Amino acid sequence: MSGRLAVIGLGPGDARFLTPEAADEIAGADALYGYAPYLARLPEQAGQARHASDNREEIARASAALDHAAGGARVAIVSGGDPGVFAMAAAVCEAIDSGPAAWREIEIRVVPGITAMLAVAAAVGAPLGHDFCAISLSDNLKPWDLVERRLDAAASAGFAIALYNPASKARPWQLGAAFDRLRQHLPPATPVIFGRAVGRADERVTVAALADADPAHADMATLVIIGSAATRAIARRGLPPLVYSPRSARA
Ligand code: SAH
Repeated sequence: MSGRLAVIGLGPGDARFLTPEAADEIAGADALYGYAPYLARLPEQAGQARHASDNREEIARASAALDHAAGGARVAIVSGGDPGVFAMAAAVCEAIDSGPAAWREIEIRVVPGITAMLAVAAAVGAPLGHDFCAISLSDNLKPWDLVERRLDAAASAGFAIALYNPASKARPWQLGAAFDRLRQHLPPATPVIFGRAVGRADERVTVAALADADPAHADMATLVIIGSAATRAIARRGLPPLVYSPRSARA
């Protein structure tokens, strides 16, 4: 008997960001799996089991949810933002790829959500209005020299860059090293946006120039966007700057 596994994006913050599709999937699930703070965002529902786990246990969480679904249940795994962006959807696919044949019969539904970079970009204007890329600064799942090569390639190719996982207590120096690296490719005035806890009550968004961007402004709840050489910050009296990347570029 094979069940159904939905991998659901909750969006960046409070319930306003949850899509109606995600809300329907959550309401119809027999059991919810996820990182404890994400589950805590959702109201308890009678008869619905909850399995909270630690942030680092993604493959174990995916496997437990797949086992549960393989028994015929409707199971949901929740992720912050979008489940396909540095999150559970890839972990579920990896687990199926190397797991028992029975898991391939489970109906898998990935439900998209608003990813952090889009929420942060929207808070300041349109810094991702032209070509851009997303890089996780975490070196837990890839070596640091690969991160550096990707930063060099992206900045020199003219992409604006969204940096996920810019810093944590265990990774205190990586963002400073990334800024040093990017200063070799980009003008000192390039806008850098720090978006912390966007979509939540304690949201804080600030804009700095790359020359004096302070890595201490970022923690694990922060997403950092570094503009391309073409990205502009429009100063406004009494209002925060409007940051945008023009829609056209020259060779
Ligand atoms: N799946 C998530 C990303 C998970 S990686 C998504 O699509 O948004 C975790 C990183 O996402 C954090 O370190 C931070 O860089 C970013 N992030 C998640 N929620 C955020 C929020 N509300 N505000 C700012 N950054 C956020």
